[in-house]
Amino acid sequence: MVSGADGERLPAWVTWRPRPFPDANLLLLHGSRLALVDSGFVGHAEETAAWAHARAGHIALVVNTHWHSDHVGGNSLLQAAGSAVAAGAPEAAAVARRDPGCCQAEYLDQPVAPYTVDQPLHDGQLLRLGDADWQVVATPGHTPGHLALWQPEERLLAVGDALSDYDVGWVDLALDGPEAATTALASLHRLAALAPKTLLPAHGPLPADPSAAFATALRRARRLVEDPDGAVRYGARRVFAFALMIRDGIPATEAEPYLHARAWLTDAARLLHLTPETLAAELIDTMLRSGTIVLRDGRLHAAAEHTQVDAEALRVPFPRAWPNLYSQRNE
Ligand SMILES: [Zn+2]
Repeated sequence: MVSGADGERLPAWVTWRPRPFPDANLLLLHGSRLALVDSGFVGHAEETAAWAHARAGHIALVVNTHWHSDHVGGNSLLQAAGSAVAAGAPEAAAVARRDPGCCQAEYLDQPVAPYTVDQPLHDGQLLRLGDADWQVVATPGHTPGHLALWQPEERLLAVGDALSDYDVGWVDLALDGPEAATTALASLHRLAALAPKTLLPAHGPLPADPSAAFATALRRARRLVEDPDGAVRYGARRVFAFALMIRDGIPATEAEPYLHARAWLTDAARLLHLTPETLAAELIDTMLRSGTIVLRDGRLHAAAEHTQVDAEALRVPFPRAWPNLYSQRNE
């Protein structure tokens, strides 16, 4: 929930709930059109929906900053309870046509329960959330359809994964092309120019000093532009850490075979002119040395704080096998 110092910086109609991985933070916007920004990981969907309903009642609209599994996992359940879902237009279109690449779920091996997008969002569009008007700010980079939400009167900026207090969103140079890092940097400049009073990131705490958070994020984003190999490795570390978090670790003996079988790892290895075997070994070695992963009881675990996921919750189909809810609705 919102704790003292954080709460004081937010208007009364905003509830901000920080959550550890594998869930994005939750942002509830109270008022006549009750809205929830991002919906967490599928493994915690019931908890997310129960919390939102208990806290606020019927959620009229769920807005996704982007379609990664830690942001859209509650969509399915909330939609079943009558919420509409809004998302960036490129992602909305891909979800509508049941593109197998939806949510990068299969590519990243991160499950997402099937959902639909009721409202595609465009850059500059005004969106009534709660009782306030928010502006959609297209911020491609971390994903091509990534968006931020800007509330000009209160100078609140919900930034999704574009940046956090300590970090900048990883970019997928294999999937989104070599320009993805430059695109992400341009999006960050655009967000910084809004000069928000309060930054609402999807991970980690509310930054005490938004301009300092931007300065750090811009520095890191420039590094991703200048060092594409470093950007590829950074992305690989983030994806692997997430894989460990949602599986309660992976047996050490199975970690390399797991990595060899992943499309994202094979793509990253190709960009780095390495074999998947070399990159997988390097990744595990680097992360063990830096302490971002640890070996415990024969399993590799992510070191960062995270909430356990029930293995059953991972048993949802990848988007290529999602039922076509649109055609069912229209029948
Ligand atoms: Zn993300």
